[in-house]
Amino acid sequence: MRLERMSWKDCEEYFKDHDMVILTTGSTENHGIHNPLGTDTMIPNKILELVEKQSDVLIAPTLPYGDADFHTEYTGTISIGSDLLEMVMERISDRLYDCGARHFVFLNGHGGNTHALSKVCRHLYKKGAVGTIFDWWTIAGKINPKWAGGHGAGQETAAMLYVDESLVQKDKIEDSNLNQFTSELTASNAQTVNFKGVDIPVPRSNRLSSDNGWFGKDHPKYATYEWGKEMVEATADFLVEYMKEFQKM
Ligand SMILES: [Zn+2]
Repeated sequence: MRLERMSWKDCEEYFKDHDMVILTTGSTENHGIHNPLGTDTMIPNKILELVEKQSDVLIAPTLPYGDADFHTEYTGTISIGSDLLEMVMERISDRLYDCGARHFVFLNGHGGNTHALSKVCRHLYKKGAVGTIFDWWTIAGKINPKWAGGHGAGQETAAMLYVDESLVQKDKIEDSNLNQFTSELTASNAQTVNFKGVDIPVPRSNRLSSDNGWFGKDHPKYATYEWGKEMVEATADFLVEYMKEFQKM
């Protein structure tokens, strides 16, 4: 059930006997030269499409921007930063709270958003409501460890192949070209360096770590449509089951 398709009266009816709402946060940011900038928005939107077929929980419009500050040196990335994301999501949640929402499901497409969403959940909890953060990629990796992945790497590329195969430029998939900073310090992920086998955070622009912009151990060249379909569908099913139990909390 989509908020934007309902009248205010339909919405009033909904909150007479429901108090749950799904709010989705994405991002517009680099996902490697083979994936579109909207990857973190389109994947959760696909999950919503599948959830909607099995659940009558109210779905609010998706926010396609998030905290992507580490990616802004890749052209086309738009970040609203953590503080503004928190303010926007808090304002939207407060309005839905006034309408009657008490169970808030934050379906999230981007790791950079999680910190702001946690703060919104604590804010809601103090008001007598409860929020939960469903970071789809983490949960998919728990449902099946073979599905776990990095940024713009195999996991997200597989999900995008399922969302819309025409948006993945397979011929542009390269090896992740992680930079060597000194003879002993190599970028081991976007925000860490490896020193004598140990990963240590050195927060910086991700572009200083890799010019092509994907990170992770799951090479995107192994991504398949079947992987994406199985993973995204299982994650949507899991969310539907979880919401039934979360409703009782
Ligand atoms: Zn992503």
